[in-house]
Amino acid sequence: MVGAFSTLRSKVRQVVTNVRDTATRPHPDLTSLERPELEEALATRGHQRFRAHQLFQWIYRHGVTDLASMTDLPGELRQQLAGEFSLTTPELVHRERSTDGTEKFLLRLADGQRIESVFIPDTPSMTFCISTQVGCAMACAFCLTGKMGLIRNLTAGEIVGQVRVLADALAMRAARFNIVLMGMGEPLHNYDETMKALRILADEHGFAMSPRRITLSTVGLLPALERLAREPIMPNLAISLHAPTDAARGDLVPINRKYGVNEIIEACKRFPLKRRNRITFEYVMLAGVNDSPADARRLAALLAGVKSKVNLIPLNAAAGIPFERPSDLAVDRFARILADHHLIVSVRKSRGRDIRAACGQLIVEGAKRSPAQQLAILLQPAPLRSPQ
Ligand code: SAH
Repeated sequence: MVGAFSTLRSKVRQVVTNVRDTATRPHPDLTSLERPELEEALATRGHQRFRAHQLFQWIYRHGVTDLASMTDLPGELRQQLAGEFSLTTPELVHRERSTDGTEKFLLRLADGQRIESVFIPDTPSMTFCISTQVGCAMACAFCLTGKMGLIRNLTAGEIVGQVRVLADALAMRAARFNIVLMGMGEPLHNYDETMKALRILADEHGFAMSPRRITLSTVGLLPALERLAREPIMPNLAISLHAPTDAARGDLVPINRKYGVNEIIEACKRFPLKRRNRITFEYVMLAGVNDSPADARRLAALLAGVKSKVNLIPLNAAAGIPFERPSDLAVDRFARILADHHLIVSVRKSRGRDIRAACGQLIVEGAKRSPAQQLAILLQPAPLRSPQ
């Protein structure tokens, strides 16, 4: 009798502790957990680890956004999980299609912040351009996003969430696509969440994205670049160079005053590259600033000995951006000099300019804005309309 009573008492204590635990323990977001983390989170809540496979398949393969729709999980389990985890998905607020097929997606996050993601068709493959931060701290002189300043980092779930939303909206869940981390933000300034997002995207039970289909574009934050060189999941690397000397680059990309051109190039030379892979050097061309034949020759000399390809991006001009796009002639002349020095060169066709979805034009309107950002928006030309 005494034994039974004490068993009952310990059971009651257990229930009370469980209730207290559930009440105080934060609800992890299923979309921000890598599979091993999810397995652990499930196990500590008394569930079987293999449920993580099922959850990954539902969320990433089938595009389900609530637990109730996961029909091969027992109903009771679905209810328990709903009390223990959250499952958030960015909300698609607006989508706008350019005359060239590029589409810009405005997404609202759980806290009301807004970000943009872009779909670029046939480049030659399908590409999703996604954001890693709300705004950006890098303040590059020619970039509109930079005018917003950094508002906050995205979580891994919000980074992958953009891929989930775009894949659904475009009916591309089963299609092959590439991802470029070239939307809003500096991915290496949000290192941990970005890398976690890449691991979630690579998971064999989810999108199973090969890292070869992902390109991370960065201004070259040196310590983070060195760290990236040691990652097991290695995306393609693109460096936003934009000028061949510290004097010129320092004016365009302020962080260059901390991590200079030569240091970045040395780090690139040490960067482990798979066979046939090359580092892309992005070079936004600004009329009269970095587009002279002498600049081209300096750039060629700088990149000698680096496994590189150069992507020239004629500026996407915008009011509030104090630079101009060079003439096609100047771009061709520049490209030819690089090619004569045996560099691989491409000129980026600007996509989605009529809907301000082009590089460096992602800026969320209606968000809390800095005065510089307000001015940039005020001075924007009205979006072009496609001829009917
Ligand atoms: N912060 C990262 C990724 C985002 S920007 C980076 O800097 O690489 C993606 C690319 O768009 C970068 O090469 C950037 O320099 C370029 N870009 C920014 N503003 C631009 C503009 N107005 N016109 C053309 N390219 C621009």
